[in-house]
Amino acid sequence: MKQLNSGLVGQGTTIFAVMSAMALEHEAINLGQGFPDEDGPRDIIKAASRALLTGTNQYPPMMGMPELRQAVADHNKRFYDLDVDWETEVMVTSGATEALADCFMGILNAGDEVVVFEPAYDSYLPIIERAGARAKIVELQPPAWDIPQEALIQAFSHKTKAVVINTPMNPTGKVFSRSELELIADLAKQHDAYAICDEVYEHLVFDDVRHIPIMTLPGMRERTARIGSAGKTFSLTGWKIGYITAAASVMQGISRAHQYVTYTTPPALQSAVAYGLRKPDSYFSSLAEDLQRKRDLICKGLSELGFAMAPCQGTYFVTGDYSGLGLNGNADQVCRQFTTEAKVATIPMGPFFSSNDGGSILRFCFCKKPEVLNEAVARLRDFLMQPSERR
Ligand code: PMP
Ligand code: GLN
Repeated sequence: MKQLNSGLVGQGTTIFAVMSAMALEHEAINLGQGFPDEDGPRDIIKAASRALLTGTNQYPPMMGMPELRQAVADHNKRFYDLDVDWETEVMVTSGATEALADCFMGILNAGDEVVVFEPAYDSYLPIIERAGARAKIVELQPPAWDIPQEALIQAFSHKTKAVVINTPMNPTGKVFSRSELELIADLAKQHDAYAICDEVYEHLVFDDVRHIPIMTLPGMRERTARIGSAGKTFSLTGWKIGYITAAASVMQGISRAHQYVTYTTPPALQSAVAYGLRKPDSYFSSLAEDLQRKRDLICKGLSELGFAMAPCQGTYFVTGDYSGLGLNGNADQVCRQFTTEAKVATIPMGPFFSSNDGGSILRFCFCKKPEVLNEAVARLRDFLMQPSERR
């Protein structure tokens, strides 16, 4: 038989599926794959079930249902003072994962270059490469995951078609500052590049940090595609409802990809997300406050065990370095051992890099009930207190 697509077959199974399967098999607490252990608001779920029974169950419009596109446009105005035309500048997708693929396929040509920060979410590179483009990697520097400015400047050239910005950032928990975004925006404008912005964690931001869409910076409105996800905003990750905001001219290319990838997204879920996006500001702020308490809980617990925890300003995730714990083995081996012996699953950083093994840093997902986080820390403590020859 002829070989299947070499670029994809060579990728193996994503680390999220691998670690979740291992967590199930070993009855470990799953602090690996990012999903909350409590569903989002009951009223949104009820809105979906009502819509299933009383609304349409046939193909909705290709761009998405008007009520959701209007809600996305209003959400852009309410939170970021962006004026958006819902008819031409908003499109609904089957999750942010599809939205990203649509952007890469709709914007890139073979031979284009795309600036990507690493560690990077695992779906970016395979799809950029399927589009025939080449990623120019800029590695952020731990522990604070700072941008190496000179490397960033060098990564841009006349071949740069786009830059991918994931803020708040998975897996680092970093939120890009205004000055960092200004530098990226200046480079994008100077090199006539698009900004593809993965902002799925836009409402999961802590302390007094603010999420700034690069689309709001001068000169960026026309060259940015901004992606959101109901999965994260409403703690309903299985729903896979994403939305893209982009200037009509940019959306033209992106929607051409969408029409051949999924074409539409289930209408009942779209109606329910439209309802959710109109929730009062207090919903969005309490979502972040609740998660911030969970971040504090896990960071305190893991620091006391000896992990060097990096700062975390947003997302479901925080990174921690285990090199001070006296463990043998690389991050893959330590993750495996934590899962099978300590019964706590985490994610190694290697899969988020293309030419770096991620060192001794692990990603911990903290969108779990406080008692679950406490139990995970207790299990790790018990494991680490064993004499070293027993582990
Ligand atoms: N981007 C990032 C950074 C993510 O963490 C996720 C999480 N799944 C996605 C995109 C995909 O979102 P969705 O589930 O809406 O496809
Ligand atoms: N975004 C989730 C994470 O980073 C995983 C989603 C998926 O499994 N594709 O854990």
